[in-house]
Amino acid sequence: MRRVCWFRSDFRLGDNHMLHRVLKDVEEGDEAAFVFWLNPKYCDPFDTRHDYYFSTMKRFMDDLEEHGLGLRVIVADTAEAFVDQLGEVGALYFNAEYVEPFKQRDDKVISLLGDDVLVVRLLDRHLFAPNAFTKKDGDPYKVYTPFKKAAYEEMPPKPYEVNRDRLKRLVTTKNEVPSELKKQFDRCKRQWKALGETAAHKRLNDFVDQRIDAYDEDRDIPSIAGTSRLSPYLRTGVLSIRTVAEAVLSAPKSNGRDTYYDELLWREFYYMIMVQFPGLKDRPFNDKYKHLDWEENEEQFEKWCRGETGYPIVDAAMRQLNETGWMHNRLRMIVASFLSKHLLIDWRKGERYFERKLIDYEAASNIGGWQWAASVGTDAVPYFRIFNPTIQSEKFDKDGTFIRKYVKELSGVEGKAIHFPDAAERDGYTDPVVDHKAARARALERFKDAQ
Ligand SMILES: Cc1cc2nc3c(=O)[nH]c(=O)nc-3n(C[C@H](O)[C@H](O)[C@H](O)COP(=O)(O)OP(=O)(O)OC[C@H]3O[C@@H](n4cnc5c(N)ncnc54)[C@H](O)[C@@H]3O)c2cc1C
Repeated sequence: MRRVCWFRSDFRLGDNHMLHRVLKDVEEGDEAAFVFWLNPKYCDPFDTRHDYYFSTMKRFMDDLEEHGLGLRVIVADTAEAFVDQLGEVGALYFNAEYVEPFKQRDDKVISLLGDDVLVVRLLDRHLFAPNAFTKKDGDPYKVYTPFKKAAYEEMPPKPYEVNRDRLKRLVTTKNEVPSELKKQFDRCKRQWKALGETAAHKRLNDFVDQRIDAYDEDRDIPSIAGTSRLSPYLRTGVLSIRTVAEAVLSAPKSNGRDTYYDELLWREFYYMIMVQFPGLKDRPFNDKYKHLDWEENEEQFEKWCRGETGYPIVDAAMRQLNETGWMHNRLRMIVASFLSKHLLIDWRKGERYFERKLIDYEAASNIGGWQWAASVGTDAVPYFRIFNPTIQSEKFDKDGTFIRKYVKELSGVEGKAIHFPDAAERDGYTDPVVDHKAARARALERFKDAQ
């Protein structure tokens, strides 16, 4: 039988559920093919996220070649065209996507293959199935804390073993780089450091060995490496969530370790919400805010995107995103709150901007994070809790180290003034786009109107 393994965002060999399963199922005389569906529709507009994704893919293909394996890349703009090019398929294996529109894409491919093909769809991107935990009445959880309590009752699954030598004997495909893929590779302009599985494992191990204990205290300070920075690997599937959970839970117990595991459960929570309540990319979870009267102000939105709002912590954060494709969690909360409350610009515009730029873009976590910050989501921050960017800055970037790194215009500003320089100290730096007090009052009123 020809067993086809369909790779998507799971660019790794180790602890890959799909590969583990195919090796378990294989019988005498079988062969396996590694395939990837490249849909040109998803490549435009090509931005930082794509640059990282395709650089990672290229690295994965190089790694495959080193192991005597290879990926056949099929270029197709419809499911029909993809299935047509698959060739003979006895069984199709893939790691499931549960979130729209990818689940629908997978459903379509399965229906086109017909009943004669064995389809093996596996849980891999998350620790638990999206319906693993429900309230007593069977409804999904809408609040994180009881969800977390339920998840703590269950041990996460262990990593899956994948024998690379056995794979080598089984897989017949060689790397193929069709012109459409070459075009995407050529569009990658950034020099990403630490791509691939070996680098990902090193980062995980360094974090667990050296920094996890202090995670609960350090994770809010953007100027230090207090967080794990594993999100881009989890996004592209270079690192398995089971491997991360296993490493974390094997570390000595500490507040840092427990807080870290709780963050992994936020990732589980938001994906469960996305699956159970479809459509959240376009609508707020909380219906009350469906018709909130957002401002249409393209000029202010552009300033926010470029990091030119005149609020140093907001601008430093946006420049970190634009320059590196990643932003610290505390800063994501600050800039999302600033856009949706201070500028009263629709959270969906910010969500879309993050989608283009973030190398760790996960629809569920991003939409969850945006709806949380804009107070329109499930278990969100109450609308009247409006972050004061200057106070956030004083608290989490006390001596302005982070701001000075990204807002070069302010490198000469000393002391507390770095958090909100006065007019004289803004030499070469932009004026504030809104007044904090007035913006706060406007947001409170607008959100109150929607109650
Ligand atoms: C507005 C907004 C948008 C966000 N967009 C994304 C996104 O597109 N992709 C994404 O992975 N995370 C997103 N997050 C969550 C969080 O900011 C990132 O997961 C985190 O900054 C990644 O860095 P890290 O790996 O160093 O995190 P760590 O602090 O080391 O956390 C470890 C892992 O836990 C998970 N995690 C941590 N915090 C959260 C959270 N609040 N929600 C869900 N998962 C979490 C991530 O997988 C992360 O890699 C967003 C948060 C906000 C407020």
